[in-house]
Amino acid sequence: MAGRPLDAEILQAVEVYAGRRGVAAHLTDPGAADLTWQNLLDFHIVRSVETRGERPMREPGGRDDIATRPTYTDIGSHPVPPPSDPEKSDAWLLVRRGSLDEERCGDCDGGTTKCGDCDGRGVRDCPRFVDCPVCQGGPDACWECEGTGRRRAGRPAHLRSGTPSAHRALCARCRASNAACPKCTGRRQLDCPDCKKKGYVRCGACEGTKRVTHQECRGTGRFTVWTEGWIHQNPHREKERRLGRLDLRRTTGGAGQWHKTVLRRATDELPDDLDEADESLIAPHLAPRKDEVARLATLRRLPLAHVRVHADPHRDYFAFPSHTGIEVTSRPTTDRVRYFAAIATASVALVALVAVLGVVVLR
Ligand SMILES: [Zn+2]
Ligand SMILES: [Zn+2]
Ligand SMILES: [Zn+2]
Ligand SMILES: [Zn+2]
Ligand SMILES: [Zn+2]
Repeated sequence: MAGRPLDAEILQAVEVYAGRRGVAAHLTDPGAADLTWQNLLDFHIVRSVETRGERPMREPGGRDDIATRPTYTDIGSHPVPPPSDPEKSDAWLLVRRGSLDEERCGDCDGGTTKCGDCDGRGVRDCPRFVDCPVCQGGPDACWECEGTGRRRAGRPAHLRSGTPSAHRALCARCRASNAACPKCTGRRQLDCPDCKKKGYVRCGACEGTKRVTHQECRGTGRFTVWTEGWIHQNPHREKERRLGRLDLRRTTGGAGQWHKTVLRRATDELPDDLDEADESLIAPHLAPRKDEVARLATLRRLPLAHVRVHADPHRDYFAFPSHTGIEVTSRPTTDRVRYFAAIATASVALVALVAVLGVVVLR
């Protein structure tokens, strides 16, 4: 293993560390300690995966920009370079050679169609008269004739008294004075303000031109057609894989002298200092994927020595190469952890039992 210290160096470092914890033992003596090596591993791979396809295109008007695009004959075999950085996306839009053409719009005449709002007349029908908004066309139109032109026999009381009203006008229908609505002078209706009594107004949709722009061809009367080929290269990242004692990552992350290997081709071999077990876990993730055009696999590893000190059987000692020498750390053994966990569980159960008893006693 690259950068793996000698076993004796590890045992000496663990001995110093254990000594500070009050465990006095000469670990290099035969039978004083057991040492086994393992690896901490970080593995990460990102592949650039390529997809290709073709589609028919039809865009309104003339498209000079399409003519300047690169062309292809067979999209499946058209060569494009692999990305220099598999983390980055890239895309190509191509035009199949000889497919670029222009066609007339079949649904309009030179980019315009007959106005649908006015049916090509340029004008819309409009009523000549509108109801008078003041008298609403009721009896108030004229107190004498109610807007009919025929005077009634009797006159309303307020007129019989002979008081002229400033708010009434001479009736245009029955000629009675001070009797008619001043707005319509008894006619109940007013000339339409929109068409000025003409009976029609200009069509707002075509502004009176009788024709409107054909939306589909955007008024150009033609379409540019071509076959588009596309090639996409996109990164596919696999989740980072971490192997070995994960509980030691915090300790080893910054301090450990990790070795990094970068694999850029599917044919690149894994470094030969890996355990068989590590290799069999990583190898499947290195298999080439369909349509893979580039890859970047990163493997970081740190040799980790696991030392069992017989004079201190309830602790696991770990040592690894650091930037300054050998770093040592320790953890209670798994048995020990389970033992304390069991005690903790038992305490919880006891507390619960006491609580139940307490409730029973109080009742
Ligand atoms: Zn058209
Ligand atoms: Zn009248
Ligand atoms: Zn009126
Ligand atoms: Zn009108
Ligand atoms: Zn119109």
